[in-house]
Amino acid sequence: MKGKKVSQTTYFYVNPQDVFGEQLILREEEARHAQKSLRLNIGDSFFAIDGIGNRYEAQILQYAKVQLYARILKTESNCGELPHRLAMGVALLKNPNRFETFLEKAVELGVTDIFPLQTRRTERVHFKTDRFERILIAALKQCGRTKLPVLHPIHTLSNLPYDEFESCLIPHEKSTSPLHFQQIQGNALICIGPEGGFTDEEVVYAQQKGCAAVSLGTRRLRAETAAMLAAGCIGLLMSE
Ligand code: SAM
Repeated sequence: MKGKKVSQTTYFYVNPQDVFGEQLILREEEARHAQKSLRLNIGDSFFAIDGIGNRYEAQILQYAKVQLYARILKTESNCGELPHRLAMGVALLKNPNRFETFLEKAVELGVTDIFPLQTRRTERVHFKTDRFERILIAALKQCGRTKLPVLHPIHTLSNLPYDEFESCLIPHEKSTSPLHFQQIQGNALICIGPEGGFTDEEVVYAQQKGCAAVSLGTRRLRAETAAMLAAGCIGLLMSE
C-alpha cells in the first residue's frame, strides 16, 4: 500500500493503552486532526508519540467514526530524553498562566518530573490536572520528545523525595554562591519559589535536606524564568 508520508515535524499523541502489538489507534481530536485538517488517507503514514518513551511511524489502515486505525511500521525509543532525571519543584503561582508557561517549556527542556510546590508564600493554589496534562501533551507533540514529564501531586518542601536525587539546588535571590556546573551530577532536583520568594526558614530547611542555595545572577527573575533558566542550563550540562 503506497501513500504520502506526513513530515516528522507533525506528531500525533497516542495513548499507550491504544497500542496493541503492531497496531495503534488514534482517537477523537487526534483522529479528527488527521482526517479533517491534514486530510490523511488510507495508506498515508504519520508519526505518533506515546508519552512513555516510544515514537511510532504508522500507516493508516482505516477510519471508523472518530478513530483512526494504523499499522506500526517502525518504533524508536527514548528520543530527545536527557540521560538523568531533571526534576523541578516549582511553587504554584498566583497567575496560573505563568505556571502554565513553565509547564510547556519544561517539556521542551527535557524536564522529567514536575513537583508543584505549596510554599509559605504561595498565594493561591490552583491545580488543574486535566488542563496541565493537556499542556504537557501539546508541548510533547510540538518538540518530538518521547516521554511526558511526570506531573506529581502538590508537594511542600517537607515531603519532596530529596533522597532520589544526587544534586539538589534551591535557587534563591539572597544567595551569593554562583551555580557551579560541577555541582551537578546524576539526577537533579531544583526548587523554585513563588512570586514572593522562599522564606529564609524554608531555604535553611532545604539546605538541611541537602539542597545547595545558589544564585542565578544579579537580576531578580520571575519564577518561571528562573525555572526555565535553571532547567535549560542543567539539562544542557547533563547532555554533554
Ligand atoms: N523577592 C523574591 C525573593 O526574595 O526571593 C523574588 C522571588 S522570584 C520572583 C521567584 C523565585 O525565582 C525565587 O524564589 C528563586 O527561587 C528564583 N529566582 C529568581 N531570581 C533569582 C536569582 N537571581 N537567583 C536565584 N534565584 C532566583
